Amino acid sequence: MLPSLRPPDVTPVDLLVVAPHPDDAELGAGGTVARWTDEGRHVAYLVVTSGEKGSADPDADPRALARVREAEQRAAARILGVDQVVFLREPDQGLEDTPAFRREMVRWIRAFRPRIVVTSDPYRRYLWHRDHRVVGQVVLDAVFPYARDPLAFPELLEEGLPPHKVAEVWCWASEDPNHRVDVTGVFARKVEALGCHRSQLAGLPFEDPAAWLWDRAREAARGTPYELAEAFHRAVALP
Ligand SMILES: [Zn+2]
Repeated sequence: MLPSLRPPDVTPVDLLVVAPHPDDAELGAGGTVARWTDEGRHVAYLVVTSGEKGSADPDADPRALARVREAEQRAAARILGVDQVVFLREPDQGLEDTPAFRREMVRWIRAFRPRIVVTSDPYRRYLWHRDHRVVGQVVLDAVFPYARDPLAFPELLEEGLPPHKVAEVWCWASEDPNHRVDVTGVFARKVEALGCHRSQLAGLPFEDPAAWLWDRAREAARGTPYELAEAFHRAVALP
């Protein structure tokens, strides 16, 4: 299926969040996103799949679910101040690290030209969604070296997408976090944004999602002066 927008339709941003599925961006970085947009920075979402396999109901209609989840994602993005949301509509649970997917990622990084890219950590061990691994790996490889190098995917130059150097990549769900963002003041908005993903709330393995999120944020803040935090592995590119 075709993406919801083409690169010429988008405008450059400071921060690009690449999410494997709808709801991953809010879970991993919703508070950080709220802080950035509050500070007047431009944030975009690149949502790789539309999450059409995200249901415990074997009779669920994947196409209908994808439409619902895209609408939920747009609503959550609005709450966090994100004005550009692109859906790549790649197959949920079907992502592979291929040259075609890497080129697509490079296209969007060159179109959005962010200083920082935020995504899923591909190096989380054991039980971790394969789509999260693949997206994290493809983003890291797309940032360096492909988005930077003019001879990588030269056809992108003909599309009017010159090389772009991303300064930093921040990975959520890392087992090796080295950077925390204080989200105490925006935590309520993170919870509100996650609440937009109604199709997913019923499948959660606990009764009170806000309490679970609060525990996670407390844990991420441990060892910092913050009450609540989001934790990332932050990789900084060479100048
Ligand atoms: Zn996900």
